[in-house]
Amino acid sequence: MKSTNKPLRGRKIAVVGAGIVGACCAAQLTYEGAQVTIIDRAMPGMSGPSRGNAAHIASSEIIPMSSPGIALEALAMLLNPRAPLKVPLAQWASLVPWLTRFLFNSRGVIYREHIKKLAQLNNQVSADVERLYALTGLSEQLQRDGALYLYESQRSLQKAASGFAIRQDYGFSSEAIGTEQLYQLEPELAKIFAGGYRIPQWMTVSDPKKVVTGMIEYSCTNGAEFICEEIQQIDPQPADGRAGVQLLYKNGQSRSFDQAVLAAGVWSKPLLRQLGTPKLLEAERGYNTTYTQPGIRIARAILFGDRGIVATPLDHGIRIGGWAELGGINRPPNPKYFQAIEAMATEIFPQLQTQQRYRWMGHRPSTPSSLPIIETSSVNPNVVYATGHGHLGLTQGPTTAKLVQELLLQV
Ligand SMILES: Cc1cc2nc3c(=O)[nH]c(=O)nc-3n(C[C@H](O)[C@H](O)[C@H](O)COP(=O)(O)OP(=O)(O)OC[C@H]3O[C@@H](n4cnc5c(N)ncnc54)[C@H](O)[C@@H]3O)c2cc1C
Repeated sequence: MKSTNKPLRGRKIAVVGAGIVGACCAAQLTYEGAQVTIIDRAMPGMSGPSRGNAAHIASSEIIPMSSPGIALEALAMLLNPRAPLKVPLAQWASLVPWLTRFLFNSRGVIYREHIKKLAQLNNQVSADVERLYALTGLSEQLQRDGALYLYESQRSLQKAASGFAIRQDYGFSSEAIGTEQLYQLEPELAKIFAGGYRIPQWMTVSDPKKVVTGMIEYSCTNGAEFICEEIQQIDPQPADGRAGVQLLYKNGQSRSFDQAVLAAGVWSKPLLRQLGTPKLLEAERGYNTTYTQPGIRIARAILFGDRGIVATPLDHGIRIGGWAELGGINRPPNPKYFQAIEAMATEIFPQLQTQQRYRWMGHRPSTPSSLPIIETSSVNPNVVYATGHGHLGLTQGPTTAKLVQELLLQV
């Protein structure tokens, strides 16, 4: 696939962060002729939630976390050790601004507005994923097997129905399935489910880490450079007063570019603050265990609505996990959460072989609206922000890259 009119030809563009969002931006901008420099303090695919996430291209996920009634639901979850929401005691004070906005967003009118915005974004996802993966030679990473959302009681099944009706209204189809059909589709499941929904348009990737490295490899093969350095500062305006942007590295050096994309996940927060454009962004930590010799097979992504966990077939096993811990960026993973999720994994899949496994925890960059921050900086029009993708960075990466390109072209 060749671009005909290379609108960014020759522009020197820095992409800060080589997670999935930065990697998609780098590939898109390289394709459009820009001279791309990707900067990450770690090697691509080695850091951040992009490395070990659940691998879902979950385009129908348009219901924001902050919804009417969330305050009471969250309270009940915080009191239940098996529930998927956690907040360490020491974290509460620093979360006040984020949580205040989160609760404000649960008002019906704002909730509906956020659904609409998420649907507008996610309606573009399938086409953008297919396009960028084809361009970068990653199409074979995509598994187009859909997903199952399962519930363990009639009560939770009925409660979930309104969410699927909303998704349907915005063009994301789903089909209600009964127990007979679901055990035919996934015979390894324990017989504890009341029913669920099949979502045909959902995709998964074989390994999210390989998608990140594949996008960076495409970019570097086609003229981009990768620099392993930490960015300490993005100057609102370059010292010499010319248009552009200057980046200061941790090693004390600095370098000027025509434009820059800030895609450093939750670690964008200090850079945004230092630029004078602070954003409400918090680390929503998720936990999973990948069973590399699971001894069972599942045919598609399965989401367990009552437990806040998902199971995904990968090229090297089955990954099971999820949960949301508003735990900041510095604290080590909580081993109890791995243990709880692993106990659930064997309840759900009684034949699961658990000896060969590895554990992982990652920091979702989450906003109180569940909407990503994709915008031109108000202090320097040559800087575009691409962060805050929360639960959907892998899903929205290619669409974000397309939107980032459009924003860069406005200057
Ligand atoms: C358990 C779990 C499951 C998930 N499942 C899914 C899923 O199934 N589907 C989905 O769509 N999403 C999922 N997500 C969310 C998804 O992983 C994230 O939204 C996504 O990875 C965010 O990507 P990013 O590129 O914005 O940030 P990151 O992956 O955090 O990448 C940021 C990069 O910036 C670098 N960096 C940071 N600061 C600096 C600096 N100052 N200088 C240089 N480099 C810097 C970091 O080293 C890192 O490589 C999941 C997340 C978790 C935790």
